[in-house]
Amino acid sequence: MLLIKNGRVIDPASGTDARMDVWLDGQGIARIAPPGGPQDREKEESRRDAGAATLDAAGLIVAPGFIDLHCHLREPGGENSETIETGTRAAARGGFTAVCCMPNTRPVNDNASVTRGILERAAVAGSTRVWPIGAASAGSRGETLAEIAAMQKAGIVAVSDDGRPIATAKLLREVMEYCRSLDLPVIDHCEDPSLFAGASMREGRQSTRLGIMGMPAATESIAVCRDLQVAELTGCRFHVAHLSARGSLEQVRAAKQRGLRVSCEVTPHHFTLCDEDVGYDTHFKMNPPLAAAEDRAALLEGLADGTVDAIATDHAPHEPASKQVEFDHAPFGVTGLETALGLALELVHSGRISLPRMVELFTSGPARVLGRNRRIAAGEPADLTIFSADTSWTFHAQDSASKSRNSPFDGRQLSGAPMATIVDGRVVYLREESRLSQNNAGAAPH
Ligand SMILES: [Zn+2]
Ligand SMILES: [Zn+2]
Repeated sequence: MLLIKNGRVIDPASGTDARMDVWLDGQGIARIAPPGGPQDREKEESRRDAGAATLDAAGLIVAPGFIDLHCHLREPGGENSETIETGTRAAARGGFTAVCCMPNTRPVNDNASVTRGILERAAVAGSTRVWPIGAASAGSRGETLAEIAAMQKAGIVAVSDDGRPIATAKLLREVMEYCRSLDLPVIDHCEDPSLFAGASMREGRQSTRLGIMGMPAATESIAVCRDLQVAELTGCRFHVAHLSARGSLEQVRAAKQRGLRVSCEVTPHHFTLCDEDVGYDTHFKMNPPLAAAEDRAALLEGLADGTVDAIATDHAPHEPASKQVEFDHAPFGVTGLETALGLALELVHSGRISLPRMVELFTSGPARVLGRNRRIAAGEPADLTIFSADTSWTFHAQDSASKSRNSPFDGRQLSGAPMATIVDGRVVYLREESRLSQNNAGAAPH
């Protein structure tokens, strides 16, 4: 039994934003109620006697467990960059209770035995829940369908060929027709390969200045257009990964207005930085690349007005040596699990979005994309994220729990941080300088 008392509970699904106590019993939420009448104090004392633990969350936010719709855990096959153990530890430190891992591992997660292998490893070594995303096509090669139904039985929550787009409209149609019958969302890395080829950043004044070959924003928005039309044709749930361009966002907004089952995510690096921040530092190289300032302004509008459904990290770890090369030769991708909340809180502090809206983008928003619920209510799984909206700290990549260091936010001062991450009733992360006081055993940090 664990009591989280005096926190400000923000639960977007029920519209709750109030000071509440939350009782956890084993793996579930037992009760949620306004803090402490004398009856509750009595109950609390009797529980403490029975060995129950208390977390005092006064001054902190208690939110449903954060979900990251998009990350790369690299296992199997890329263990020099990340493992399920290190990636989910970084996730827990970032306040995430569940992470969806993309299938571009070696081997690719395109069949049930790879899916089961990931879930078995996660059960042993994972700090958070791991929800695998299966490949759309065999080997993500864009030729024939992957074993989608078998993977769904094994536990995938969506399909994607992330790392690359689903190759052709014809294949996308087959994938979407199949996934509609299975009620699985299709997530696409929207990109026109002919415009992408050879480029390392966004095309514009900055790419000209640096002499780095760029790709135009249309590289993404052309693909979004294709995908939306196929989604309309098939009626499949469709989700745009790491949306970065104004043209893409406007299409998603219009598609939602037409009633299509369409959703999208935006990454913290895309809403925080823009192409003018790119120099020759390979830690600023990712795909899609940092966009123009006007695109970032559009993303901020979409985050505020509800067009964007989720903040997702696209955490893409690369071992240090691979990034210590010329910009053109470096792999695309940045880490992001431990900085996501701090960067999202910058939007709250600057007044662009409200705190409940930010919580929605990490909880009920991504849950909805997957056709799930995320809320704080009796009987729900005890997955909670407790965070401070104002604790000041500096992110140092070298202190990250990730195996990799490729963050553009190394040395950035952030305001607000996860204080405790609870998965299945277990405290999997407790920040050292946490103001949470914890008594008794039963909830030892992992
Ligand atoms: Zn991608
Ligand atoms: Zn990705």
